[in-house]
Amino acid sequence: MIIYYRSCVLDFDAFALQIILNAQYRCEYCKTSSKLTGMPLTMEHIIPRSLGGSDDLLNLAAACYRCNEFKGAKVSEIDLQTSQSSRLFNPRTDLWIDHFIWINGGIQIAGTSLIGDVTLIALRLNNKDIVAARALWVSFDWHPP
Ligand SMILES: [Zn+2]
Repeated sequence: MIIYYRSCVLDFDAFALQIILNAQYRCEYCKTSSKLTGMPLTMEHIIPRSLGGSDDLLNLAAACYRCNEFKGAKVSEIDLQTSQSSRLFNPRTDLWIDHFIWINGGIQIAGTSLIGDVTLIALRLNNKDIVAARALWVSFDWHPP
């Protein structure tokens, strides 16, 4: 479920704003800047509400609309190359640089761990639309962060 921080109750707004400030206005999964897209970040439930996830600070992440939609209620994914299953990247407990790297000059993301690999698949972090946008941003030296 996508919750836009501007439309929520005050306490949730304060949480969301703090999370977005901490994330420096970037999606915590794909690192896309909301300042580049012009789209507000959403509040993504790391453990979905449908699986008992709460609205606590530790269960919320700043996510672009695309990552939030692709993640949906997923908490794990299977790496089809190895048939191994793993939980997804958790922005509250994992460091992005421990699981991902930029490749192709910052245009694409590669996983460096099973968690990174399955998150890349589940959230389609290299979908053609964002890759095209990143190529443009890289040409202006606006990306990667
Ligand atoms: Zn994203």
